[in-house]
Amino acid sequence: MKPIIGITPSIVTTDGDRPERRYTLATTYSDAVDAAGGVPIILPYHEGSVERILDIVDGLVLSGGADLRPDRYGDTTVHPTVYGIDDLRDSFEVALVERAIARGVPILGICRGCQVLNVALGGTLIQDIPDQHGTTIEHRQSERTIPPAEPSHSVSVESGSLLETVYGATSLATNSFHHQAIRDIAPSLRLAGRAPDGIVEAVWRPGPTWVLGLQWHPELMFRAHPEHLRPFQALVAAARAAGRSAAVGS
Ligand code: MN
Repeated sequence: MKPIIGITPSIVTTDGDRPERRYTLATTYSDAVDAAGGVPIILPYHEGSVERILDIVDGLVLSGGADLRPDRYGDTTVHPTVYGIDDLRDSFEVALVERAIARGVPILGICRGCQVLNVALGGTLIQDIPDQHGTTIEHRQSERTIPPAEPSHSVSVESGSLLETVYGATSLATNSFHHQAIRDIAPSLRLAGRAPDGIVEAVWRPGPTWVLGLQWHPELMFRAHPEHLRPFQALVAAARAAGRSAAVGS
């Protein structure tokens, strides 16, 4: 049986005379999960459903999106560039991370999802890279009109990390669409990759549960650069090993 992979969406409020909150998810996330051999499903934010969701899914993708509320990682001030805070999403995803790790459900965190992993496990964030971390790298490559499927900076891979296992490489070429990043890595996470300016670009969690966070967007790159399907393939393999699809012997 193909493993079921739950993907968290974003949420937007529509304009017009009947504004409403709507879940949105770029199709590239489910395309990448499908291409890797998983069955993608989308998860609305109902914190009371977390345990039953984890009965159903064999793995999770935390998708990209807007910023976490800074007081979740102990910052009492909010940088003026912080945008799109959604407390329901923050609470749902943090609960999902805590319970998924406790229950052995593999997690791939992408961009915001990498930051969610870190904050849920007790780490902190840089609220705005250009203002709070001196760098010559533009981590928002749209400012340089580089297409989303193309890389804009390198990532050096930590020896012995899960990232090295997944990509089988010591250096990666990645895209970059973020103005925030990990500041202090959570106690249970480990550095997996850095940009040349020192920005943390990937983390992983040693232990029985497969957990990988990537600051870039492999789902936007995997068609043009097939090595970026590997995180999804590794997630699906871990889900197969950990999930109920393995328990029934298929
Ligand atoms: Mn970057």
